[in-house]
Amino acid sequence: MFHSARIKLTAWYLLIIMVVSLSFSGVIYKETVTELERGFRVMALRHQANEMGILLPRIFSGRPEDLPPLLREAPAQYFLEEDFWEAKKRVLLNLLLINGAILVFSTLSGYFLAGKTLRPIEKSLEEQKRFIADASHELRTPLTALRTSMEVSLRDTKMPLSEAKTLIKSNLEEVVGLQSLSDKLLSLACFQGNGHSLNFKEVDIAEAVGKVTKKILPLAKEKEIKLAEKVGSQIIWADEENLQEMLWIFLDNSVKYTPRGGKVIIETKSDKKWLIIKVEDTGIGIAEEDLPYIFDRFYRADQSRSKEEVAGFGLGLSLAKKIIEMHKGTIGVSSVLGKKTIFTIRLPLKHS
Ligand code: ADP
Repeated sequence: MFHSARIKLTAWYLLIIMVVSLSFSGVIYKETVTELERGFRVMALRHQANEMGILLPRIFSGRPEDLPPLLREAPAQYFLEEDFWEAKKRVLLNLLLINGAILVFSTLSGYFLAGKTLRPIEKSLEEQKRFIADASHELRTPLTALRTSMEVSLRDTKMPLSEAKTLIKSNLEEVVGLQSLSDKLLSLACFQGNGHSLNFKEVDIAEAVGKVTKKILPLAKEKEIKLAEKVGSQIIWADEENLQEMLWIFLDNSVKYTPRGGKVIIETKSDKKWLIIKVEDTGIGIAEEDLPYIFDRFYRADQSRSKEEVAGFGLGLSLAKKIIEMHKGTIGVSSVLGKKTIFTIRLPLKHS
């Protein structure tokens, strides 16, 4: 599909270039032939005037009304018809050669340019295809599990009420997980197509962090994790909802991947241009070989995948990265396996 689109686009480029080039060549040919004819005629008249002993001015148009009466009446003897035709032929041939060269050059450069123009479209189409394939793959597994468990329990006519309730509870947990997956997929899809218009305004980072830590606190308490906040008031230009979503992702991960009794610290600093947010935990850490991939969609490092109690789909960090990019910020990570992980987010203070 990409190849045929590239050829079609090249053909359009060629058509436009050749229409322009041939039209110009037509005009150039007509003007050159008129001038040639005038030149040949002037030459012939000068020759004839010489023969007749008539002196012609140095600049002379060759028009009949500008001719001395004697010369006007004399028959034109020295107009070199064959040479004139030969000169016309040469002009035509040269123009055809130039147009041929333009055709070859435009075909090659048009094909190259068409490829360059279509490459981002092709990339985004591929990205979309991969996204749909990944999403359906991730949705299929929990949906199949849900369906099987419901079908089995429907067939069991003697299932006690307590067992049925346990089953419904676990199915409900699956549904909540699926809901969070579809929410994340939707946000990612919106950012992917850049169809998501962010609502930028002045936001106090201390307030945003405060709101998120309030929500995360019960989860931290449940795991006896100490949550420390060293955040001063600082106004930044951001989309509040997405900023909170991004903070939630980092804090939630820190709590998820930190064993009972650990510590999570969120702190902010700022310099002239940037607000620097640091989220540090004393958790399981990330292996060096996993670090380059953790921001990829659906990527989960081995140690988190093998621990079944850590729920997740591998979408959080890719969503967080997208949000940071939409704010023209950057993200960095450092980690010591089994000891700690530090995420450093830099967001511009001013609206650019
Ligand atoms: P999820 O947490 O749903 O698996 P994410 O995209 O949020 O997906 O994270 C991707 C992977 O990065 C996680 O599976 C985990 O292996 C690793 N990770 C992210 N944050 C941390 C952290 N604070 N400590 C250790 N590993 C982390």
